[in-house]
Amino acid sequence: MAVARERGLAAIGIADHLPLAHNPHPDPTLAMPLAELDAYVAEVNALKSAEPGFVLLGVEADYLPASVEVTAELLGRLSLDYVVGSVHFLNGWGFDDPRYVEEYEHRSVDQVYREYLRLVGDAAETGLFDIIGHLDLVKKFGHRARSDLRSEWQALAERLAAAGVAVELNTAGLRKPVGELYPSPAVLEILHGCGVPLTFGSDAHCPEDVGRDFDLAVTAARNAGYRSYVRIATDGFREHPLPDGVG
Ligand code: ZN
Ligand code: FE
Repeated sequence: MAVARERGLAAIGIADHLPLAHNPHPDPTLAMPLAELDAYVAEVNALKSAEPGFVLLGVEADYLPASVEVTAELLGRLSLDYVVGSVHFLNGWGFDDPRYVEEYEHRSVDQVYREYLRLVGDAAETGLFDIIGHLDLVKKFGHRARSDLRSEWQALAERLAAAGVAVELNTAGLRKPVGELYPSPAVLEILHGCGVPLTFGSDAHCPEDVGRDFDLAVTAARNAGYRSYVRIATDGFREHPLPDGVG
């Protein structure tokens, strides 16, 4: 909270990983256990009352095609300000998990991208999510598509725009082997061309990372053509002009 204030953020959204109780490969290290969910909500709600308008309660929820109903039910029980929808699994393979990175050697990277992009579009169309997290996560360890996937990205951006979700410009990628924002400048341009709203996220897993590198993110958004961004408020998205003079 203090870091968020210090860095001049207008608000901070807290979005822990929603329990993966319904995951095909339950792994307690990846998300909070179901038993802790109520305590998490209570804790963030206490912060919300202490700092009205500054703190928002969210979760990052996995899109798992086989478990959409369980996820919907879980989300429906909670009173959240926003839900970040993320794809971290391709048919049970945690492709962004360093423990399973070896699997890339047995796959075509282009196929991984194609499958991933299709799932992200499906995720957006469930209507469960307000924001799509780390849009080009497949690049995390430096895996790049071999062929030009521009038309696949274009198709995805159209699906996202139609679904009315925002995309997060996430600075965590800068701290990963790929060393880039999620998504990349080329993808950002496509998103802007399709009118997909943009929001900012630091995906912070520790206080020092809250709002980290937002100056770089604002510059990237501007370079892609964005002049405004959206921020979740307690009653939905609000559009704000991109701050200038940063970067
Ligand atoms: Zn994530
Ligand atoms: Fe995370």
